[in-house]
Amino acid sequence: MNRSNEPLQALVPAELDWGDDGNPVSTRFGDIYFSRDNGLAESRHVFLAGNELPRRWREHGSTDFTIAETGFGSGLNFLVTWQAWRAYRQQCHSGARRLHYVSIEKFPLARDDLQRIHTPWPSLAGLCQELLARYPPPLPGPHRLLLEHGELTLDLWWGDIGQVLPDWLYRRRALVDAWYLDGFAPARNAAMWQAGLWPQVAALSRPGATVATFTAAGAVRRNLAAAGFKVLKTAGFGRKREQLCAALEKPVAMPAPAGTAWDIPRSCLPRPQELLVIGGGLAGCHTAAACARRGIRVTLLEREGIASAASGNAQGILYTRLSHRHSPATDFALASYGFAARLYRQMLEHGELQQGQQGELCGCLQQVTDSSELARMRPVLESLASLARVVDPVTASRLVGVNQPCAGYWLPEAGWIQPAALCRALLQHPLITVLAQSGPVQLGREAGSWVASAAGEPLARASHAVVAAGQHSAAFHGLDWLPLRMIRGQTTQLPPDPVRARLRAVLCHSGYIAPANAAGQCVGATFGLDDPDPAPRTADQSHNLQALAKALPDWETQLAELDRGALPARVAWRCASPDYLPLVGPVPDREAFVRDYGALRDNARQAIAVAGSCVPGLYLNTGHGSRGLTSTALAAELLAGQICDEPLPLEPELVRALAPARFLIRDLRRNRL
Ligand code: SAM
Repeated sequence: MNRSNEPLQALVPAELDWGDDGNPVSTRFGDIYFSRDNGLAESRHVFLAGNELPRRWREHGSTDFTIAETGFGSGLNFLVTWQAWRAYRQQCHSGARRLHYVSIEKFPLARDDLQRIHTPWPSLAGLCQELLARYPPPLPGPHRLLLEHGELTLDLWWGDIGQVLPDWLYRRRALVDAWYLDGFAPARNAAMWQAGLWPQVAALSRPGATVATFTAAGAVRRNLAAAGFKVLKTAGFGRKREQLCAALEKPVAMPAPAGTAWDIPRSCLPRPQELLVIGGGLAGCHTAAACARRGIRVTLLEREGIASAASGNAQGILYTRLSHRHSPATDFALASYGFAARLYRQMLEHGELQQGQQGELCGCLQQVTDSSELARMRPVLESLASLARVVDPVTASRLVGVNQPCAGYWLPEAGWIQPAALCRALLQHPLITVLAQSGPVQLGREAGSWVASAAGEPLARASHAVVAAGQHSAAFHGLDWLPLRMIRGQTTQLPPDPVRARLRAVLCHSGYIAPANAAGQCVGATFGLDDPDPAPRTADQSHNLQALAKALPDWETQLAELDRGALPARVAWRCASPDYLPLVGPVPDREAFVRDYGALRDNARQAIAVAGSCVPGLYLNTGHGSRGLTSTALAAELLAGQICDEPLPLEPELVRALAPARFLIRDLRRNRL
C-alpha cells in the first residue's frame, strides 16, 4: 500500500483480558485466540491436519511450500507449524525443503503479552524464545524473519487484511499452498471475512492449494465454494462439532491490479539452478548467500579481492535514519534495518561473526541538535521502543559511556560490523564458488546463458546473472544508461587507546565512530560527490577528527594532539543513485521498455498496465551508497525472491521504488527519452 507522506505511527496493539484462567481474550473482538482446553492440540488439529500437513510437505513436487495465515495473534499456529516442520525435516529428505509462512496481523500483540501467552507451552519454549528475540516492532508493512538457517522464512505483514491482500495480488502470481483462516469468529469480526476476501484467496492459491479454518459458518462455506474451492465439513476440535477444510478445484484467473501506474519488468524464466554474481562487496555477497540458501549454485566473480572497495572499511555502522513521515526512503530504511539487525544478531550468536572483534550490536546514539525534531518524534517513538527512543544528554552519556553535548535517538538494536568479515562469513555456503582477483569481468549472452569472462577467457556460465559491481555496474552490456553516482569517502583509523575505549556504543553525528576492537576505531567519513582522487588527504583526516571533536567535546584536546598525517586513512567510493535508493531488481530491456511505456511522454500520469520487458535472467543489486551494511541484506532477499518467484519481503510501492526501471519511467515522464 502507498503510505507516502502519511505520518509514521505504530499499529494499535492487541488489547487483552486475561480472565480468571489466565487465557487471553481480545477485548476488541470479545473472542479467544485459541481453545481454552488445549490450544496446541487445537492448532494441530484445525490447521495442520486440516491442510494435511506434514503429509503434503513430504509429497510436495517443488522446493518451496507456502502457508498464508489470516491473523498471527499469539503465533501459536506458527509455532506448532515450525515444530512440525523441524520434525519433518529431521526425518524426511525429499519433498518440500523450504517453508515460507506469511501471516497478516492488524493488531500485533505487545512483546510482553506474547511472552506471557507463551509461558504455559514448555514443549515450544525454545521456539517461543527465538520468535520473541526476533519479534519486530509494530511498524506497518512486512517484516521478514529467517529461521532454521534460512530454511524457514516468516513474513509478518503488520496491517489490515483488506490492504495486505491487494499487495500480495499485485504481482499476479499464485503463491500459496495452504491457508490458515483464523480471524476470530465471523460473527465477531465481519471485516476479516468480508466478501472481497474469497476471490483474493482463490487467486493467490496455487494448484492443489488447501484451506483450513476453525469455523463451520454457512457463509464461509458458501463463499469458499463460490470462489472455486471444494469444501468439506470435518470434525472440529474439542467441543466444536465441525470445522471447514477446502481444496482449490481449478486455478482461478488473477484480477487485474487496480490503478497501477507502471509495472516492474518480470522474468518469465523458471527458477534457476545456477547463477552468476558479479561483485564481491556486501551487495554481491548477500545476494550469493540469499540465492545459495534457496538451493541455487552460485559463482561469485570479483575483479579484485572480496570486500576490497567500499565494503572494505574497518567498521561499518548498522543504523537507520528516522522520520515522522512515511516515504519510500524511510520505509525501505526501516525495513532493511530491522532485517539486517535480526540477521547480524543471529550471525553473532551463531559465531559466524566474532563478537566484539568483527561486530557488536551494542546500540547506537544518533545525536540530534534540532529540538523541534525530537519533540515531534518523541510521541511517534513512544510505542516503538524496540526501534528507537528519544534520550536526553544525561541518558545519552550513560548509554554511550562518554559525555554527550546534546540529546538524540537511542537505537538499541544498532551497532557495528566489520564488512569484510561479514562478506567472508556470507560466502561460507557450500553452494557458493568464489572466483576473486579475476580482473575486469565481462558478461555475454551465449545460447541462452550468461557467460562471465575475463581477458577473453570464459570463467563461468549460468541462466541467471546478478550485477552487483558498484561503480562498475554501468560498464556491463545494456546497463550504460544507469544513473550511478560516485561518492568518495575517506575514513580515519584511530589506534587503540584507554580513554577512547570508554565509548561503548556507536555514535552517529555528522560522521560516525564505533567502539574499539583490537585494531582501534574507525572514524568516518567524508562525502565527495564525483571526486575521483584515490590519494588519502590530511585535510580529510582533519575533517573527520574535527567533526568527532565537536560531537565529543571531552575528547577535543586528545584528538587535537593526534598527528593527522600519520593516522591510517582509507579511501573508497560509494555508489549511489540520484534518489539515494538502491537499484535492486530485474534489468529492463531498455528499448522494449521505452516502447511499452512511450505514452508517458504525452501523459506522465496515466496508468499503463503492462509488465515491462526485461533482459532475460539479468538482475541488478547496487547503489547502496553509504548504507550498504544496512540495506544490502534485505535487498538480496528481495532479489532472490524475484528470481525464485516467491512472496516478496516488501510492499509493491517499495519494490517499484527500488526497481532499476524507475529511472526509465522518470525520463519518459520528463520527456527525456
Ligand atoms: N492465529 C492466531 C494464533 O495462532 O494465535 C490466532 C488468531 S486470532 C483468533 C485472530 C487474529 O486476527 C487476531 O490477532 C486479530 O488481531 C487479527 N485480526 C482481526 N481483524 C483483522 C484484520 N482486519 N486484518 C488483520 N488481522 C486481523
